[in-house]
Amino acid sequence: MSARAGVVYLVGAGPGDPGLMTARSLELIAGADAIFYDRLIPPGALAGARADAELVYVGKQPGVPSVPQEEIGERLIEAAEEGKGVVRLKGGDPFVFGRGGEEGEALREGGVEFEVVPGITAGVAATAYAGIPVTHRDDASAVAFVTGHEDPEKPESALDWEALARFPGTLVFYMGVKRLAENAAALIEAGRDSDEPAAAIERGTMAGQRTVTATLGTIAEAVAREQVKAPALIVVGQVARRREQLGWLERRPLHGRRVVVTRARAQASGLAATLRGLGAEVVELPAIRIEPRIDGDEVRKVAAALGIYELICLTSPNGVRLLFEAMENAGLDARALAGVTVAAIGPGTARALAERGVLADVVPERFIAEGLLDALEDEEIAGARVLVARAAEAREVLPDALRERGAEVDVVALYETVREQPDEAEIERAQSADYVTFTSSSTVTNLVEALGDRFPSKARVVSIGPVTTETAQAAGLQVDVEAERHDIDGLLAALMADATA
Ligand code: SAH
Repeated sequence: MSARAGVVYLVGAGPGDPGLMTARSLELIAGADAIFYDRLIPPGALAGARADAELVYVGKQPGVPSVPQEEIGERLIEAAEEGKGVVRLKGGDPFVFGRGGEEGEALREGGVEFEVVPGITAGVAATAYAGIPVTHRDDASAVAFVTGHEDPEKPESALDWEALARFPGTLVFYMGVKRLAENAAALIEAGRDSDEPAAAIERGTMAGQRTVTATLGTIAEAVAREQVKAPALIVVGQVARRREQLGWLERRPLHGRRVVVTRARAQASGLAATLRGLGAEVVELPAIRIEPRIDGDEVRKVAAALGIYELICLTSPNGVRLLFEAMENAGLDARALAGVTVAAIGPGTARALAERGVLADVVPERFIAEGLLDALEDEEIAGARVLVARAAEAREVLPDALRERGAEVDVVALYETVREQPDEAEIERAQSADYVTFTSSSTVTNLVEALGDRFPSKARVVSIGPVTTETAQAAGLQVDVEAERHDIDGLLAALMADATA
């Protein structure tokens, strides 16, 4: 169910890893008319919001003036009264050090209906990613979430250090970096053992998560030495040493590797997600964008008369998607391909066809034009009418060879790949990349042009196949790894093999 009009949803966005957002939060973000969001929400958390949704930043940043808490409440009430479905998006869980309670109270007082959508709180998520179970049969039967940053306006500190020192279990301090030295000293002073294991977890569940371990007596010094910065949690308890056995994040095959993905933004997500799942830190430098050309006369004519072809060759999933859009514009569906032999250049293209109800008749073993030609060896080509539907700037290998075999070939450009200027911050992050991946010649050409002398010189270059490799070499790059299988899975396998060699 999407966001109801006039209702405010106090939604937890989880600790930072976009994969840890709840299904409910994504559903509400997708349906909201207005989203009021904080600073510590996962990257891309708002990507699923409606294009016409109002996105309002109300976050607090240390040392920077921000929207006062009271005003946030007023603005939420106002938006709800305008009949909007409102999402109030916060890091972690809204009711764990998230001021969700105060906002709920303001809404109740203002007569506005609200719902609370819990999120995974950093105290259990960052710790789990660090290999620290907050409870353990042998070590801790209880866990306490504690603020390390008491409201200085409060008349007396609400923290009872004696009670915390006696607490029979794990202590997890939120907002605890700045006052760590005072807090650790207060705990020891109140009787907690200074030799008790402790850990600081920085940027938990996010790219670059870091964990520093020490003891209660030495954690402040260790955090200062390692320059641990917020957001970070401090864990005090025997469980902290379980990390030695249970740490898993750092063991993933691509942990600590920075990998540049250059595919068009619309297609990069699958590759990027798989790389992240393997532990890599992904830098997205989309060098190209797909610009459809299906509104032109040429495509329109072809789409309306697909039945005249004996063979149609498709060379990318984008081509399939856009051919079907062009068919739909002409009032046609998959039946327009009845009786036509359909060839796909690789499994991704075949999958895109299958999703639209068409099983490719021909899929080659090598996913390049030459492979497709080999696969078409047995087809009756001489005299046949053939359509090659593809990108505007592709090689002529396929049409030329088909013509040589006596076919009457039409080539239609369904789209053009145009240069995209990558984000400055991402270019900066790319400088220390370990790998740059190229999935097509156009990504090479455009990235090299877009970056100029800022191409990450120390990174190893991974190419999807021989055509891309040739383009890269012509552009002056050294290709270190070439995939054996010329698709995304093949590229991943080649990168993994190189990284773990
Ligand atoms: N509502 C949030 C907490 C907000 S208070 C939640 O439930 O997680 C902000 C504090 O939370 C930070 O100072 C830090 O101590 C902790 N925190 C939030 N995200 C974190 C992360 N990804 N890694 C480590 N600590 C985090």
